Amino acid sequence: MKYYFRYVEEIKPPLNGAMLRGLSVDKAANGHFLVKASNKVGMKPKDFIDLAVDQHDELADEVQLDVSKAESRDTVSRLSDLYHKTHGKNLVPKSEESIQVKLIGDMGIQVPVIGFVDLITEDDMIVDTKVRSQNRAIDLSRDIQLVTYSKITNINKIAIAQVVDTKEPKSDLIVHEVSELSISSVSQKIRSVSGAIRKRVFLPAPEGSWYCSKKWCFYWKICPYGESSK
Ligand code: SF4
Repeated sequence: MKYYFRYVEEIKPPLNGAMLRGLSVDKAANGHFLVKASNKVGMKPKDFIDLAVDQHDELADEVQLDVSKAESRDTVSRLSDLYHKTHGKNLVPKSEESIQVKLIGDMGIQVPVIGFVDLITEDDMIVDTKVRSQNRAIDLSRDIQLVTYSKITNINKIAIAQVVDTKEPKSDLIVHEVSELSISSVSQKIRSVSGAIRKRVFLPAPEGSWYCSKKWCFYWKICPYGESSK
């Protein structure tokens, strides 16, 4: 149903506080790895944090923040500091062209795919930067985006470089080796979803999904499977 609201009805969800903080750290990470690809070190911690905070402040007034602007900025500063110390230090880009890589391809099922890989490392790993507000378990074998990127690029190792905005902020690199089984189950999912979209059948989120809720879905109030069905 999200696809229906977003691409058929063209109702674009506004940026929220969590998205803004994610985007801010993402921008600093991209800048850092671009520099690191040429100087092997990357940006200094202060420059990294400043870049993230500047991005935050540039857009903060247009966003409905969930906390005060100062608190949101502090969170960006704290999380970008942690990102720089951990992933920024440990991950090494393959080249200047391996940051924000545009991919165009398909999974061999005639469904075209376009996407951007945040980073490909020198040891051939596809990395997605994420800022999360909760420390949820992640199963990368079912991650449609990363498994698709893996198939298109022929790079077997995928990872999420995340920082989590918990009381004591956490940083984790979650790595997964993609199997043929993952690729075929993701292909199957893409095939059935794209077939349904072509037939203009829009399905609700699976029963019990955490994101199908007032807190996490922007379309909750207007979706027939959201508020009105409860
Ligand atoms: S309310 Fe649930 S089913 Fe409807 S768009 Fe949101 S996530 Fe999908």
